[in-house]
Amino acid sequence: MDTNKPSQEHKPGLACPECGFFINMSIEDILYRTGIQCASCGLQLTMNRNMSNEALQALQNLDTAIKNVNHLKQKYK
Ligand SMILES: [Zn+2]
Repeated sequence: MDTNKPSQEHKPGLACPECGFFINMSIEDILYRTGIQCASCGLQLTMNRNMSNEALQALQNLDTAIKNVNHLKQKYK
C-alpha cells in the first residue's frame, strides 16, 4: 500500500493522455485558460468549454468559495 503520498493527493491537474506526465492545473487554469501544454511531451490540451458549462459553473462557485475561505483565513491570522 502506498498511502504515504501526502502532497500528491490534492493536487489539481490531469495526467497527459500522450505520455502520462502529471500536469498541474489550478482551478483558475481550468476556468480561465483555453489550453494547457504538457511540460514533458509538449502536447497541447484544449479545454472544451461548450461541453461542460455546468461543470464550469460548479468550479467557478468552488473557486469563489475557496477565495472566500482564504480571505477569512488571512483576516483571522
Ligand atoms: Zn505529455
